[in-house]
Amino acid sequence: MTVSSINETESPVAAKPVFKPVHAVRGMNDIVPPESARWEWLEEQVRSVMQRWAYRNIRTPVLEHTGLFVRGLGEVTDIVEKEMYSFTDRADKTGDADHLSLRPENTAGVVRAVTEHNLLYDGGKRLYYMAPMFRRERPQRGRYRQFHQVGAEALGFAGPEVDAEIILLAHALLQQLGLRDVRLELNSLGQPAERLQHRAALIAYFEAHKDELDEDARRRLHSNPLRILDTKNPAMQALAQQAPKLLDYLGEQSLKHFEQVQAILDANGVAWQINPRLVRGLDYYNLTVFEFITDALGAQGTICGGGRYDYLIEQIGGKPAPAVGWAFGVERVLELLKEQQIAVPAQVPQAYAVVAEPASLPQVMAVLTQLRQAGVAVQMHAPADSAQGLGSFKSQFKRADASGAAWALVFGPDELARGEVTLKPLRGGEQTQLALADIPALAARIQSSLG
Ligand code: ATP
Ligand code: MG
Repeated sequence: MTVSSINETESPVAAKPVFKPVHAVRGMNDIVPPESARWEWLEEQVRSVMQRWAYRNIRTPVLEHTGLFVRGLGEVTDIVEKEMYSFTDRADKTGDADHLSLRPENTAGVVRAVTEHNLLYDGGKRLYYMAPMFRRERPQRGRYRQFHQVGAEALGFAGPEVDAEIILLAHALLQQLGLRDVRLELNSLGQPAERLQHRAALIAYFEAHKDELDEDARRRLHSNPLRILDTKNPAMQALAQQAPKLLDYLGEQSLKHFEQVQAILDANGVAWQINPRLVRGLDYYNLTVFEFITDALGAQGTICGGGRYDYLIEQIGGKPAPAVGWAFGVERVLELLKEQQIAVPAQVPQAYAVVAEPASLPQVMAVLTQLRQAGVAVQMHAPADSAQGLGSFKSQFKRADASGAAWALVFGPDELARGEVTLKPLRGGEQTQLALADIPALAARIQSSLG
């Protein structure tokens, strides 16, 4: 749709133009109340867990140079080949124009920022983010074009204990949210030299079975044969199952690293299973890779994926440093919460102000401001159309009820004349009058009765 077609009127002769409604972009969702309460709750849980694990927040731009993702993710990944939203910016005075992309993931951006700000100068850093990502995929349940990730990255640490820590962190987060039946799958991709040997064996194996390969696999055979293992084509499952396993090509050091990760997970009572075909979608991983998977969401069952990426920082132009991280999909996690009927607290005011006379609004609103300063969540009645004043008590109480508040604060002329307000419980119980002069007592009363 062009800009002008958005503004086109349906009736060009009418004096008043009729505007066509504008819709959101396909695969990009609005998050509106009450659903947004679930998002805010999840964000609070994330912040609270990150705080306890001493991971610090990092925020990077949504737009980056396209080259960052080409270098970071690998040229032959699905994301870079066909899923990025990329464009050429307007040329500057010298005639040069930037090639920019909406970020499809955030590890590359974090690594760029860490390098640019030399954050590793005094040792490793533990970072996290919550942010929107963009991929031009086919929209379906659990797969959108703008989606959100919570991610954690530990940069500048080489040991297997940090692989284990970051997996335990993801596990702690899923526990904090109350999620059940999520399994943890592990694999090790070893080091580049080990992968090279395995790659040769893999190509030889798939070449020997060339007739059984689908089009996708044939295309990947020489560019990215590892990805064939992660095929979703049922007809290729048996072939992928029998393929040479990377784990059999690992040297002593890689194996030791992997075993230590497993030992720490065991000591923490976190169950895991090895999936030798787990390779992850992005090129930059080495050693430990992992996914948290549920069977409750159909085909989009991977809720969290990550691994070690010791060569990415150097690849993006930084001083070589090891790193490990993960990202989980917020939409999928929220969907799973719904699926498992895990209740999330609704957002309701504690009190709803019912006001008889418009003339008393200045006084009433001054009281409400003080109550809010004292920590009370108050919603004030306001009519859609003020021609009839504020509306009858009956209609105001209907609104008060619908708001979910526990109390109505009734500001009638008699109460106000006495310097009081009536506190009426909306879910049964006796009403009382309290003095407006003692805001702390009023606030305490409103809050004391809340569970
Ligand atoms: P998938 O195999 O489902 O396509 P992926 O390997 O592409 O996932 P990552 O790049 O590892 O996913 O991203 C981490 C997490 O982000 C995924 O596990 C998933 O929960 C979420 N995710 C990825 N792509 C999307 C999307 N298009 N819509 C919603 N969530 C997504
Ligand atoms: Mg994907």
